Amino acid sequence: MLETIRAAGRIARIDIAKAAGASPATVTAITSELIAAGLIEECADPPLQDAKRGRPRVALKIRGGAHLVAGVKVSHHAASVVITDFEGTEITAREMRLAENRMTPAKLCDEILRSLDEACAAGGLSLGDLSGIGIGIAGLVDARRNFVYWSSSLRERNVDLGRMLEARVHCPVFLDNDANLVAKAEHIFGEGRNVDNFIVITVEHGVGMGIVLDGRIYRGVRGCGAEFGHTKVQLEGALCQCGQRGCLEAYVGDYALLREANLNSETDHKDIDSLFAAAGAGEEIAGSILDRAGRMFAMGLANVVNIFDPSLIILSGAQLNYDFLYSDKVIDQMKRWIVQVDAPIPEVKVHGWGDLMWAKGATAYAIEEVSNLTVRELAANAG
Ligand SMILES: [Zn+2]
Repeated sequence: MLETIRAAGRIARIDIAKAAGASPATVTAITSELIAAGLIEECADPPLQDAKRGRPRVALKIRGGAHLVAGVKVSHHAASVVITDFEGTEITAREMRLAENRMTPAKLCDEILRSLDEACAAGGLSLGDLSGIGIGIAGLVDARRNFVYWSSSLRERNVDLGRMLEARVHCPVFLDNDANLVAKAEHIFGEGRNVDNFIVITVEHGVGMGIVLDGRIYRGVRGCGAEFGHTKVQLEGALCQCGQRGCLEAYVGDYALLREANLNSETDHKDIDSLFAAAGAGEEIAGSILDRAGRMFAMGLANVVNIFDPSLIILSGAQLNYDFLYSDKVIDQMKRWIVQVDAPIPEVKVHGWGDLMWAKGATAYAIEEVSNLTVRELAANAG
């Protein structure tokens, strides 16, 4: 019911009953409990109008002051933190450079706590004011157990990162794969609002994916689903950073493009900027490398559409200035490779945003999980 209220912003009890398929009496009882627990409140603003009878209706909304939560996005080079109230209104945001790209678990905990401390201080808060912390990290994460099987940010495998952090912050920590949190952010704040079945594909250091099915994130049984970057596009193909061969990422990831570009002894591209500029200047090899990456990516996109048949695909990331993966040519190729039927094809939207928006997805996850915990506590106390 909290989610219905959150999704609506402001909503009358009778409309909650309709949306939740519950009786008005049940809704009145539950909303009274939620009001008593301080999670929701009646709106002080002008009441909603009853369309039929013109009678004013009292609207309910989430009580912003109920809880403060933080969202952290751990990227290759930085930790981005957003702190919001329970309505999702931003209080403060910080970005902090990480000491190293890959760290021991203890060092990563130190760095995450340092970034949280800095953000709290910037907002005139302390860590103790937070009711929950959502954290997005790249890699294979079991969100139910807050457990990291593998991450490019960690020097070790199988890290109980959630528990390590919870021992030091005294509030619940909710860990998830970063692409899943982008999907959540898109669902709540972005291009996926009011869309129940969509796919988000993130292109950063690696290629990630978030799957939203019937309004919920699909994570797979072990929490390892949606590894789009490691779907195979070539039998015995190029070597991927995961150790296997033929992964999509081994053809479109930064490292893969540079590896290919620098095979030629006459070129020494230090970064993707340099390769992109060379292609822009008409250099044939650079152009062919980006062109192939675009076609590989189009093939991956077509595979995704052929499996999931979503209504929308959102290409999301900070590096959208490199348009070789998002060009009209790539999208046209994808369209040619999907199954052809007499029905509209999925829409593809490109949404460029920075790490802070990913962190905002982590706050949305924290809000949802803190809500669940609070509702469970209420039920336990009532029972
Ligand atoms: Zn791989």
